[in-house]
Amino acid sequence: GAPNFVIHLAEKAEEVLGVPASRLGVERAIVGGEPGGGIPAIRDKIEKLWGAKCTEMLGGTDLGVTYWAECDRQSGMHMVSMDYIITELLDPDTGKIIPWEEGAKGEMIYTALGRRASPLVRFRSGDFIEVLGTTCPCGRTGPKIRCTGRTDDMLIVRGANVFPSAIHSIVNEMVPETNGVMRVVADFEGHTTQEALKIIVERGPALKPEADPTLKKKIEQRLRDALVFKADVRIVDPDTFEKPGAAKIAFVLRKFPNLP
Ligand SMILES: [Zn+2]
Repeated sequence: GAPNFVIHLAEKAEEVLGVPASRLGVERAIVGGEPGGGIPAIRDKIEKLWGAKCTEMLGGTDLGVTYWAECDRQSGMHMVSMDYIITELLDPDTGKIIPWEEGAKGEMIYTALGRRASPLVRFRSGDFIEVLGTTCPCGRTGPKIRCTGRTDDMLIVRGANVFPSAIHSIVNEMVPETNGVMRVVADFEGHTTQEALKIIVERGPALKPEADPTLKKKIEQRLRDALVFKADVRIVDPDTFEKPGAAKIAFVLRKFPNLP
């Protein structure tokens, strides 16, 4: 399931079944469909709730089902359908193909010549990925990847490429100071802004509102250090935003919401 859905199911287990998810005998949670399984804070939460090992996968229905999947080392996804799908990495800015090297980032493109009815040649998946390495203790070779987000989710803040999912990841690393919940307010035309990017973050339940100015500065600094862009953070009460439940969360709002 999607990581947030798997968390939602675990949180409902006690209420619906009378048994915590960790006692249901589930051994493995395989997640995909949105970034999360590769974010340590979210993966740890899933593993703790279910008492299971969590690994992630990436795929689609354009060429097959699962194209990439993680081994037990949990250090990025291996290509698992090399006989059927040719993968290349595209630099969306220059239109050039990038070599598979550690640290390379770009959009994944696929070619599947074996498909007779609908062969796809250099199909742009829209998945923006990063190469974490090219070897693995499990013995598999080839690139190990993490998906950062969809290329159409990418915002450009004063020239820096910023993915809402990457901001979400940082805010999650800052639990319990934050509640792990954030929204980006993209109240501008298109995807590009020259202003600081407005971000709303829920305060952790144990913190008092008096700590907000310090927390705001700390998050802005972390975002600048990790993602190299200027943020304007607004701290709000925990549970200001509705819990995602079974739905996929939209991290980006197009208007600043009415806040108490
Ligand atoms: Zn491996």
